[in-house]
Amino acid sequence: MDPEAFRRYGYKMVDWIADYLANGKEYPVLSQVEPGEIRGALPARPPQEPETMEAIMADVDRVLMPGITHWNAPGFLAYFANTGSGPGILGEMLASGLNVNAMLWRTSPAATELEQVTLDWLRQALGLPEPLFGVINDTASSSTLYALAAAREALSDLEIRQKGLAGRADVPRLRVYASQEAHSATDKAAMTLGIGQEGVCKVATDDELRMDAAQLEQAILRDLEEGWRPCAVVATVGTTSTGSIDPVAQIADICEKYGLWLHVDAAYGGSAAVDPQMRRVLDGCERADSLVVNPHKWLFTPMDCSVLYTRKPEILKAAFSLVPEYLRSAQNQDEEVPNLMDYGTSLGRRFRSLKLWMIMRYFGQEGLAARIREHCRLAQWLARQITATPGFELMAPVHFSLVCFRAHPHGIDDEQQLDKLNEGIINRINASGRFFLSHTRVNDRYTIRVAIGNIRTMEHDIHALWDTIQGQPSQS
Ligand code: PLP
Repeated sequence: MDPEAFRRYGYKMVDWIADYLANGKEYPVLSQVEPGEIRGALPARPPQEPETMEAIMADVDRVLMPGITHWNAPGFLAYFANTGSGPGILGEMLASGLNVNAMLWRTSPAATELEQVTLDWLRQALGLPEPLFGVINDTASSSTLYALAAAREALSDLEIRQKGLAGRADVPRLRVYASQEAHSATDKAAMTLGIGQEGVCKVATDDELRMDAAQLEQAILRDLEEGWRPCAVVATVGTTSTGSIDPVAQIADICEKYGLWLHVDAAYGGSAAVDPQMRRVLDGCERADSLVVNPHKWLFTPMDCSVLYTRKPEILKAAFSLVPEYLRSAQNQDEEVPNLMDYGTSLGRRFRSLKLWMIMRYFGQEGLAARIREHCRLAQWLARQITATPGFELMAPVHFSLVCFRAHPHGIDDEQQLDKLNEGIINRINASGRFFLSHTRVNDRYTIRVAIGNIRTMEHDIHALWDTIQGQPSQS
C-alpha cells in the first residue's frame, strides 16, 4: 500500500470509526449470532489474489459486524464495561504506525521513557507515594502472574529460579492467600508458577464480602504449623463480583508480621482513586509490594493496558531478567534506564504507554475524575431505585460503579425459582439489543450485575435500563 493509498483508506477508516462511535445504537450490544456463524461466512482457504480495501471493508460490514459485541456502546453494562475513548483510539493508531518494539531501551528510548513518565503521572494521580516502579502489561492476569513470580523470587533461600520446584524434597509447599471473592487470575498464576490451585488458600469474607483479616492470620498460623511456606497475600480493591474492598491496611500489618509479599488487585477499583474524593479506596496500598490497576477497565483506555506497580523492582527483575548475547547493550549494565523486557515473560513489547499518555493529557486528571464520579453517581441512583422499589433487593454495597441486585417479588422465597426469574430478566434485557448485562453469584444467589464504566453511558441510558428491568417500555 503506497502512502497515497494509505492516506485515502486511512481517512475512510477514520470516517468509519467515527460513524460507528456516533451510531452505536444501530447494533444489538450483545452479538446475536449463533456459534460458528461468522466462521461459516468466511472462506476456508486463504486468498490467493490481492483484494481491494473496498472488498475487505465490505466484509467487515457484512460478515464481521453482526458478530461484534459492542463494548464501546453506551448500553454495555456487563462484566466490567470499558471504553475505547477517542484519544485512546488515536494513540493505538499512532502506535501501529510507529510499530515500535520497546523490548530494550535503545529499541525505542521514547517508548521506554514515556512509559516511565506516564506511569509516574498515574502514580501521582492515584495518590500513591514514591518510589514506585511501573510497567505496562497486556492484562491484569499477566500482571498478577508477574507479581506472584516476584513474591516467589523473594523467597530467595529456595533458589526457585535456578532449581525450579519439581522433585525437590527440600522445598515446602508454597501458599498464597486471597479471599473467596478474589479474581481467578490468582489461581491461574498459582497454577502457572507451580504453586498449584491447592496452594491458594481462599480466606473467608465478612458480611460485606471483604477478606476477614483475622481469618487470614489464623490460616497463616495453621499453615505454618502444618509445614506450608506462606508466600504472598493478594488483597482486592474492587472485587469482580461485587466491587468489595478488602481491608488492605490490616492485611499489610499481617504481611509485615509474617514477612509475606502483599499484592493488591485494584484492576477495576484502582482507577477510582484519580478522583480525590475516592482516594480512600487505596488506603493501605502504599504498603503493598505490588499493585495492579487496569486503565483498560475504567480509565477509558482501549484494550489492552494493565499497569503493574512495585516497590521492589529489583525482585521483579531478578525473577525475569535473562539477557542472551544478542540482546546485550550498554544499557544492560547501566541502571539509569530500564530495559522493559526484564520485568516479565515477553521480550517484545507494544508501545502501550502512548495511548495512556494521550488520554491523561486529553482529559486531564480533572476530566478523568469527573467521568468516574458521574459513573459512581449513576450507580448510586440505580441503587436507590432498587432499594426503594418493592420486589427488588440490593445484593451488595455499592462502592464504585457496579450495582449488584436481584428481583425478589413478595411471596417467592424458593431460591431456585428466584434464580430462574433473575436469569430470565437478564436474558430478556440482553435479547432486547439495547443493553448487555452479566451475572454473578452473591452468597450463592444468582445476582444481576450492572457495571457502569463506558464513557458514552449517560444518565438517560441508566434510566432507560431501570424502566426495562421493571418491564416498562423505555422512555428514551
Ligand atoms: N482482577 C479483577 C478484580 C478483575 O475484575 C479482572 C477482570 O475483570 C481481572 C483481575 C483480570 O483482568 P484481565 O482481563 O486484565 O486479565
